Amino acid sequence: MNSFQYTRVTTPKAAISALTQESGTYFLAGGTNLIDLMKREVIVPERLIDINKLPLATIEKTATGLRIGAMAKNSTVADHELVKKHFPLLSMALNAGASAQLRNMATIGGNMMQRTRCSYFYDPSMPCNKRSPIQAGPDKGQPNGPSGCGAVGGVNRMHAIFGGSPKCIAVHPSDMCIALVALDATVNVSGPKGDRTIPFSDFHRLPGDTPQKDNTLLPGELIMSVDVPTNKFADNSHYLKVRDRASYAFALISVGVAVDMKRSDGSGKTIQDVRLAMGGVAHKPWRLTEAEQFLRGKPATEENFKQAATLAMKGAKGYGENDFKLTLAPNSIIDALKTATKTA
Ligand SMILES: Cc1cc2nc3c(=O)[nH]c(=O)nc-3n(C[C@H](O)[C@H](O)[C@H](O)COP(=O)(O)OP(=O)(O)OC[C@H]3O[C@@H](n4cnc5c(N)ncnc54)[C@H](O)[C@@H]3O)c2cc1C
Ligand code: SF4
Repeated sequence: MNSFQYTRVTTPKAAISALTQESGTYFLAGGTNLIDLMKREVIVPERLIDINKLPLATIEKTATGLRIGAMAKNSTVADHELVKKHFPLLSMALNAGASAQLRNMATIGGNMMQRTRCSYFYDPSMPCNKRSPIQAGPDKGQPNGPSGCGAVGGVNRMHAIFGGSPKCIAVHPSDMCIALVALDATVNVSGPKGDRTIPFSDFHRLPGDTPQKDNTLLPGELIMSVDVPTNKFADNSHYLKVRDRASYAFALISVGVAVDMKRSDGSGKTIQDVRLAMGGVAHKPWRLTEAEQFLRGKPATEENFKQAATLAMKGAKGYGENDFKLTLAPNSIIDALKTATKTA
């Protein structure tokens, strides 16, 4: 049993100041990931700052779209009328995640910050560069378990096919984040040096030589809210999640699609604008910009979807057990595009 201090805060300022004061301090939101990591001693905090009383749970219309507070629960956002009507991709992605009970506890900020589900990361006796980066110098403390990457050359069925490095091939596990990156969301954060806004596509990062860093949040920063801009995708959105069980399982592959079908020619079958993103394939939500570019202005046909999927797979690399994703991913892109555009 590891003891830790517990503090409850009621203002963002107090939360930021508490996090900045001491190392080994973590924000506690719904606790659905952090508490699991503590039980397994992957994270051994000295202090938890409970942020559940922060006034950051509102969902409100703005001049440019929707602002979702970081403490809004996953289930509340998924079921919100404005989200269902104008951002169905986000609602679908949230509802595809975890279980009803977990979604009732999990928050928007916590979902963005959840750690990878790589099984080596969750077992401190196994090598993992993300959990246990090589410590430079004797004054840096003991690493939490051996360094190295167990998954490269090991059990890597769930792992990345894009953007991995020799140090880490873990994937980001969130469903919600696939929708948010596709919808060009932005993240509002507040920290010791003030407020800033991060494009969602820059919030998570690739592992490179520092796989211990999942994202670009700076020390002491608190996620305040997420802005989702107004769009024309409500009629043609789809989130396809391929997983081992029908529910309560992380994505092997997921595809978020949002399409604006041109109607000026009367057919409604030309793609005016499209957003595509994939989950289960990279250390960050993976946007398929080249495929999007190819599809803009083209008719919604299976042939075009196949070409887009081929473009999307450029640079993909399997690591053995996850080679099946090299086939599953393009097939999923084609399926998701067909469903979103209602193409038979
Ligand atoms: C069995 C199981 C199955 C699951 N299946 C899925 C799934 O299929 N798809 C999916 O997407 N997710 C899934 N999840 C993950 C779940 O969605 C996350 O655990 C949850 O979203 C985390 O939110 P939380 O509020 O509980 O975060 P917490 O566990 O409280 O916190 C997680 C991390 O976020 C940090 N944090 C929280 N809020 C903020 C903030 N505002 N600013 C800065 N840092 C913050 C915390 O310090 C902590 O490091 C599953 C979880 C479990 C346990
Ligand atoms: S893939 Fe990343 S998280 Fe998994 S063992 Fe390797 S370094 Fe750790």
